[in-house]
Amino acid sequence: MKKLIRGLDEFRQNYVNTHQELLEQLSHGQKPRVLFITCSDSRVAPNLITNTDMGELFVIRNAGNIIPPYGSANGGEGGTIEYAINALGIEQVVICGHSHCGGMKGLLKLNELQEDMPLVYDWLRHAESTRRLVMENYPDYSGEELIETLVAENVLIQIDNLKTYPVVRARIHQGKLRIYAWIYRIETGEVLAYDAETHTYVPPMSQLMDDEDQNGDRSLAPSDKKRRSDSEFSSLTNIRGELDKLLAVNSPKSTKEAERAIGSLERLFARASRLGMTASELQNYHSLFSEPIQTWARKAYSHR
Ligand code: ZN
Repeated sequence: MKKLIRGLDEFRQNYVNTHQELLEQLSHGQKPRVLFITCSDSRVAPNLITNTDMGELFVIRNAGNIIPPYGSANGGEGGTIEYAINALGIEQVVICGHSHCGGMKGLLKLNELQEDMPLVYDWLRHAESTRRLVMENYPDYSGEELIETLVAENVLIQIDNLKTYPVVRARIHQGKLRIYAWIYRIETGEVLAYDAETHTYVPPMSQLMDDEDQNGDRSLAPSDKKRRSDSEFSSLTNIRGELDKLLAVNSPKSTKEAERAIGSLERLFARASRLGMTASELQNYHSLFSEPIQTWARKAYSHR
């Protein structure tokens, strides 16, 4: 407790002194852009890992980053979601699981919990779909691999649960709400984001590009857009051509150009492996891009 009280003092001396304008502005109201749903685990620090400031993230935390399906529980989650979307007008939601999640480990011995921690048992039952899905579909997995799979599938199941909320459904229908699945790795501090196209978790930079596509390309219906991109990259020959073109982007002139290059690269790699590019050719491309991508990332994130 001593450490915490000393911390309060240090916070006022260091942070408050240098952020008076921000705090004054926040005293008139909040306008967070993102609802961030994550685990209570002390090793996950939403503002720290996203390098965001006060007022930027609206946060829900609980054991296992679980969202009970609409109507199944009367906890704080439902009300907080409703408030975030309806009152604050938030249009982006992140559900962020994490490696080594105790909640997911608990799922594996759910019945043992019933006696010792009946409330934990009740809570984790909202993730029963996660447990069942993983047990039935990944029967050979064990240890770390099993936990990682539970973490990854649980985030997707909780997104399904989130979509049972009327306010969420309505906003998705209007194209006014996007939901992202993230996994934070405690050991490396990196975040991976779910890519529905490849059903894998990939570096989240690629999603910047998708956002831009959506914002800048409203005239194209989703099906048209898909047709267009499929035909553009329908063969490995085309992809090789695109990759070679991308290699020529040595020093991007703008942040947007850098983000676009990163996004294109991610998608080209995903398509290349789906179309059967050999592992050694992919590896070769990876090493060819290892230098340019560092330049792009520096440019893309220079304004943050
Ligand atoms: Zn956890």
